[in-house]
Amino acid sequence: MELLHVKAPAKINLFLRISGKRSDGYHDLYTLMCPLALYDTLTLSAGGKGIVVVCDHPGVPEDASNLAARSANLFLKTAFAGNSLPISGLTIHIDKKIPVGAGLGGGSSDAAAVLMALNDYFGQPLSTQALMALGTRIGADVPFFVRGAPALATGIGDRLEPFPHLTPWTALLVYPNEVVSTAWVYKNLNLRLTKDEKKLSKFHFDGRLFKLDEHLVNDLEPVTERAFPVIKAIKRLLLAHGAGGAMMSGSGSTVFGLFADHERAISVCTALRDNQQNKNWTLYVADLLI
Ligand code: ATP
Repeated sequence: MELLHVKAPAKINLFLRISGKRSDGYHDLYTLMCPLALYDTLTLSAGGKGIVVVCDHPGVPEDASNLAARSANLFLKTAFAGNSLPISGLTIHIDKKIPVGAGLGGGSSDAAAVLMALNDYFGQPLSTQALMALGTRIGADVPFFVRGAPALATGIGDRLEPFPHLTPWTALLVYPNEVVSTAWVYKNLNLRLTKDEKKLSKFHFDGRLFKLDEHLVNDLEPVTERAFPVIKAIKRLLLAHGAGGAMMSGSGSTVFGLFADHERAISVCTALRDNQQNKNWTLYVADLLI
């Protein structure tokens, strides 16, 4: 196979509400997700035996558990079920730019990018719907990345409705170099859910008009923030520097500030980077892909 280069974008959650706990242990979500112009780059090439992942990021597994490897495996088995596979082996090289365990969905996005690249390469044997259904088996956010556009998600995050009503903000992302386990956050949320049940019912969203002052809410934020108080400090800092709103994405630890003006986001990014106190943080400026 020729080399295939594909870009896998990050995402932020503009709101993330937990609407209940399911009998299977998962939680029901109501979330507004938007892709961002911050990308991993994947290079796929045929050859060798089996699926090989190469990634020099220490937090990313290079074995069969890598989400990109799992999706390649699942795609090939599904698209060529009953037939011999068209390739004996596949190497996936991941140039990791999206921070890992950061609430930006990097692993899920890599998985979706592989599904779409292989499907295109082999002449689209599967429909987008079928790719999304495969993606759900890898992770709840994968179908969102197969769509690749802002969406309201319900269920475990896999039932999607397009959301074409967002303003073209620029996000300033601050990753405090704290790796957060999504499973840990949900486990600790369970303990809080009963206390917060009343608060959960207060959210009113008409499904169309997203208001920064009202709707920028993340039910996972208090849980992660208790373990990583730096999250609150970053939010304050972003707001003090003129962000229209600031919040943690997904289960954290990345915090984003939204700016109407791209240049302003860049100058705040430079100012925060120059401050020696913030030297453990990694900052990114990325436009929302609306
Ligand atoms: P989410 O917002 O969906 O919870 P996240 O940004 O918090 O995602 P990821 O960066 O997607 O988290 O990675 C979560 C875990 O998945 C990591 O611990 C990592 O070891 C594992 N993983 C497997 N494959 C990948 C991949 N291709 N890229 C990044 N992480 C991967």
